Amino acid sequence: MTRHRLAAAIATLLLAAVGCSQPAPGGLPQHHHGTTSRTHRQAQPRAVSDVLVRHRYVLGYSVEHRPVIAVQIGDPDSPRRILLVGCIHGNEPAGIAIARALLATRVPPEVNLWVVPDLNPDGVHAGTRGNARGVDLNRNFPYRWRPIGAPGSLHYAGSHALSEREARMAARLLRRVRPTLGLWYHQALDVVDTSQGPRALERRYAADTGLPTRRLPDYPGSAIGFEDHLFGPTAFAIELPAGRVSRAELRRHLRAIVDIATRAPIHHALKPWEAA
Ligand SMILES: [Zn+2]
Repeated sequence: MTRHRLAAAIATLLLAAVGCSQPAPGGLPQHHHGTTSRTHRQAQPRAVSDVLVRHRYVLGYSVEHRPVIAVQIGDPDSPRRILLVGCIHGNEPAGIAIARALLATRVPPEVNLWVVPDLNPDGVHAGTRGNARGVDLNRNFPYRWRPIGAPGSLHYAGSHALSEREARMAARLLRRVRPTLGLWYHQALDVVDTSQGPRALERRYAADTGLPTRRLPDYPGSAIGFEDHLFGPTAFAIELPAGRVSRAELRRHLRAIVDIATRAPIHHALKPWEAA
């Protein structure tokens, strides 16, 4: 974000420099001597809103040292901040294909989209629900965390909240991005979960994809529970059917993501400079 703001500031300075000696490009207001500071303030938002980015970040490394990647695309200054996580349970990997397909398509320029295709690469590699330490990452987040199971059991919640590096990466990203919409993919219940997220957008996603809705339990220590605790009802789970996502399903999910991304509320979690 800092790098982007620096780039935007440089772009504004360049535009200002050009405007002093020749007509300003792109229909921006031309400078007149004596009104320079006012014109600078007017030109800056225009320059910022036109900058679209595609940044790839390594959030960190899994227990077995696989990179956990996040890709930011769109307008980094848009208040529509959307986080999509393709996989958190390693034996439920179908959402990874949706995340990757989304990164290969054109997204609406008015959204600030963060995509984590795979938060649990060790689990995907091994075909296990948990990470390489046998912890269910979706019981390891610091909201209503409680001990569940014994080490090695299916829903083992870890020794304490955020005991796992993959969960810590996601928690850091959540606190940094402050998403106004969160989409987390699971398998294989074949429903959109309407238990605690943004109800209208959940229903819309279900209608767009043809998935039924169902209220699933709010599990202790879940990523979505943590996200909704931090930012209000913004995040929900999509339970894909078993197996791989077909091409037709892929198209429906991409359409649904774009559809609700452009309708995501913008009133939550404003950053200080956006609230001004
Ligand atoms: Zn799951």
